Amino acid sequence: MRRRGRERVERHAREALSLVEPSVSKRLQVIWCRRLPHDDAYHTHAVADDHVPWIFIDEHVFDASTPDEREDTVRHELAHLVAYHRHGRHIQDHGDEYRRARREIDRALDEEDA
Ligand SMILES: [Zn+2]
Repeated sequence: MRRRGRERVERHAREALSLVEPSVSKRLQVIWCRRLPHDDAYHTHAVADDHVPWIFIDEHVFDASTPDEREDTVRHELAHLVAYHRHGRHIQDHGDEYRRARREIDRALDEEDA
């Protein structure tokens, strides 16, 4: 993805996070990769190591996605970061904490769009 496209995605992610969890928003790091090192099955990944909230995005997969899929991907990973920030890293990946965070992000962004 070209630089301006990446910057737009990163700005959007930061703004979305700032609506629900401003302290995480300031530290967010978005890493664009060719192939994720963690697991071939994942095209995006969120981790919160050493208090740094990271989102890894496979740029080839992202480029090939539709705008709706991209938006969903960004919200999905942000929800992981919010859930980890609030509840620690030992929660279920897509459990209640994650789903609550995702609903909050959706509500905040959809209100902004309205
Ligand atoms: Zn996930």
